[in-house]
Amino acid sequence: ASALPGLDASKLIITRADPTARAVPDEATACSGTETICTDHMITATWKASSGWSAPELKPYGPLTLMPTASVLHYATECFEGLKAYRGHDGRLRLFRPDRNAERMLMSTLRISLPGFDPRELEKLIVALMAVDGPKWLPRSRPGSFLYLRPAIIGTHPQLGVQAPREALLFITASFMPRMDSPPGGMRLHTNPEDMIRAWVGGFGYAKVGANYGPSLLATNEARERGFGQILWLYGPEGYCTEAGASNFFIVWRTREGALQLVTAPLDDKLILDGVTRRSVVELARERLKDELEVVERKYTIDEVLEADREGRLIEAFTAGTAFFICPVSQIRHRDYDIHIPMVKGESGQYTAKIKGWMSDIMYGKEEHPWGVVV
Ligand code: PMP
Repeated sequence: ASALPGLDASKLIITRADPTARAVPDEATACSGTETICTDHMITATWKASSGWSAPELKPYGPLTLMPTASVLHYATECFEGLKAYRGHDGRLRLFRPDRNAERMLMSTLRISLPGFDPRELEKLIVALMAVDGPKWLPRSRPGSFLYLRPAIIGTHPQLGVQAPREALLFITASFMPRMDSPPGGMRLHTNPEDMIRAWVGGFGYAKVGANYGPSLLATNEARERGFGQILWLYGPEGYCTEAGASNFFIVWRTREGALQLVTAPLDDKLILDGVTRRSVVELARERLKDELEVVERKYTIDEVLEADREGRLIEAFTAGTAFFICPVSQIRHRDYDIHIPMVKGESGQYTAKIKGWMSDIMYGKEEHPWGVVV
């Protein structure tokens, strides 16, 4: 049998929105509303088991139509990605390691029984959307601004039988998103209630499927009502630290033997997302802080963190992810215990600040680096 067509960015069909129909809203106003404001265009492509991928389309942003029996609406056959486009201080537009997001999307897609694709084609489609909407929505006059890109795939097959969907839709939107990397006084984390975990060994915590997010909102809302920003998700009777909200989690501590370490949870038991930011922090710190500290990916428990705090060995903590970027953590509450991490004049510690600075220099083109992909 001949192979069905794969996803092919070179077949992109472009239908442009009326460029005068909408002015770009003020970013702060756009971010304070209740609806996500998307750019003028979106990209879509459909897939059918019988005919493969359609030619992708770039067209005016607008609603999708779905049958009420669509697979995604009942069985959560969905996965997504999140990355940003950055307007550099040199006037150029960049994506940060989009190949990692495209690869991860493929991994998530296959985990949730949606169709595969060549990740390089997805990357090209993301670039195509930014090539059209970037100049208007991220003007050269606004260096330091960014848009949030959201590729997603959903099972659209209108069939209530519990089965892998035979029809799917890929779409990519771009929107404004508030800056969330420096809440005044630092991020406050609360550990999860004992009866609500995010992921488990043998589950799908490592995949960016929507099914990981909806069920986490209950614990997050409870924490928010108590004045905390995100949940620090613990796992197992040992209380292993895994991730914080939709970000990975890092601490800097000194061991009892006196070694300075940057510590984060490992990827091997497939509990946590392989964050692009996490990966970049680990790689940069191994390269640029090698004379100062040791980077350790290992299982560690909340009790070890509490102990380090009691013994005065806990130095810094931060979350790392696309949305919140590198966000210093000032407090962790676990049951009746409170850990306070000192913020110097409301600022993060020196290692958090250094890593954040390097990453942001790459994103905004102050440092030429292969991770910064020019659109
Ligand atoms: N963990 C989870 C659960 C997430 O949803 C995200 C956001 N994608 C991250 C970590 C951070 O990943 P990244 O750095 O790729 O944004």
